[in-house]
Amino acid sequence: MVLLCYLKTALTHPGGAPLFYKSAHPTPGGIQVRPGARGWGRGRITPILGPDGTLHCRTCESAKPPRCKHDSVTGECALKFDHFCPWVGNTIGYRNYKPFVLFVGYTAAAAFFAAFCCRHELFLVSGLESRDQYKSALGGSSWQPGLAGMLAVVISISFGFSLSCFLACHLHIASSNTSTVEAQGGGRASPYDLGPSHNLQQVFGSRWQSWLMPTISDDSHVATRMGTYFRRSVASV
Ligand SMILES: [Zn+2]
Repeated sequence: MVLLCYLKTALTHPGGAPLFYKSAHPTPGGIQVRPGARGWGRGRITPILGPDGTLHCRTCESAKPPRCKHDSVTGECALKFDHFCPWVGNTIGYRNYKPFVLFVGYTAAAAFFAAFCCRHELFLVSGLESRDQYKSALGGSSWQPGLAGMLAVVISISFGFSLSCFLACHLHIASSNTSTVEAQGGGRASPYDLGPSHNLQQVFGSRWQSWLMPTISDDSHVATRMGTYFRRSVASV
């Protein structure tokens, strides 16, 4: 499952604006472009509004739905941009956030399981287990406890603990309907916060049976229009 979530996160595009995307709430002002400039983003004065009032990215010139941000690493805009993850070599956004969170969670579980499998090494060194108990626990194996075993326990526990903290952080982000980059903007509450249940359904899907599977979320229930629209909470309107 760790490998499956990893591949899903690494190989799934975070999502970009559809080719003919138009804002449901166009910004008045029309086109702003320097005379003689060739298309969006060319020239010293960078346009940010299309003729139909739809916002465009200053850098890559694509349309920008709400919560869509430009990723300077890939040079593309990503829907509900979260961050660029060097471990999976991909931008984390609307379409691969769920498998990313599951990847972190399953990797933490695998690290703790690895530590559990090496627990006799730890018990032996800490004095909780005698050498005879250690050998009988391993079925009379001639395996000798060594530095490698101890290192495996320490690294696994450290790795599992770090990833658990990272997972808790992302579960908090998901349950409050924000993103890593939005959460860095200050202590303000997210205007898209619809309550923990609806927020988690936007990330993990409307069917709880599929929450632990790295499948693309079914967003028909929460109506996010595949990442191009997010309903605002009543308090923010
Ligand atoms: Zn862009």
